[in-house]
Amino acid sequence: MSVKAVGLISGGLDSILAVKLLKEQGIEVYAVYFVMPWGSGNLERCRALCLQLDVHFHSIYLGNDYLEMLKRPQYGYGGAFNPCIDCHRFMVRRAAEYMKEVGADFVFTGEVVGQRPMSQLKRCLPLIDKDTEIEGRLLRPLSAKLLDETIPEREGMVDRSRLLGLSGRSRKSQFDLAQKYGITGFSPPAGGCLLTEKPFGNRFKDFLDGICRDAKETSALCFGRYFRVDRKCAVIIGRDQEENASLEACAVRGDCIVELINVGAPLALVKGAEISEDVLQISAGISQYFSKAKGAPAEVASCRFIGEERRMNTTARKLSERDISAMWKQ
Ligand code: SF4
Repeated sequence: MSVKAVGLISGGLDSILAVKLLKEQGIEVYAVYFVMPWGSGNLERCRALCLQLDVHFHSIYLGNDYLEMLKRPQYGYGGAFNPCIDCHRFMVRRAAEYMKEVGADFVFTGEVVGQRPMSQLKRCLPLIDKDTEIEGRLLRPLSAKLLDETIPEREGMVDRSRLLGLSGRSRKSQFDLAQKYGITGFSPPAGGCLLTEKPFGNRFKDFLDGICRDAKETSALCFGRYFRVDRKCAVIIGRDQEENASLEACAVRGDCIVELINVGAPLALVKGAEISEDVLQISAGISQYFSKAKGAPAEVASCRFIGEERRMNTTARKLSERDISAMWKQ
């Protein structure tokens, strides 16, 4: 019976090389791509890559349970709002569920010892599968020779001598291998997902604190300027026409779209469980502050509640620079 393995694929070179190394050993690979709560990222690119690599492709959406993990990661955060160790543990556990579903023997990743801070430090790698049902069945083909032998190596499913012992941040060996295998079309090396960026991380953290009702809502955080208006509401305003359109497309039932009626101004997407008239006035005020009518007499704004018949007009609140900076989370 053939050996089957589930591999995490990101579209980056390391994960593709890991797939190649195992395919070379005749292992049937099932690649899994994780879609972050706020958007699909490299999904289509990975699907196409997997077709080229002749491996199965499967995507898993990280939804509300992922957000719960994000709020209280056991191993803490990195430099921003990125809980990389817990995030990898989460993904590996989900991949392990898929492993069972397709009857695979183990899970592998393209991780390289010491390539990234936090989750890829040698002392942190064992934490990823520790005390999970997949413990011992998580293989890192690119660094395997530097790590303890895993069950698939011990049981002869994988030939350890044909795996690699890469470590560190230099990617020269990987680029040499890409040339050897003729691999093209991979994503350029990146420092991590959006959670590793402080401005995005700040707004994400704020949004999870009592505003977010569903993981899909977080797609709105990829655009515009973000303000926390009160304990229960946040408003995002577009920086240009394109962002206005993107924010409008991200609006979900219960949100409210606020637009100044008589002047060109950014669209304001208001989110929260209890959107009061006070919140709408402030949202209109923020929109006016970032328009050509900044400092002019208060403008009138229309307010459209998504998924409801309800519409109303309100008057923009006059806001000072200090008011704005107190609410602005970047
Ligand atoms: S960079 Fe983002 S996706 Fe990658 S492990 Fe860290 S939190 Fe998870």
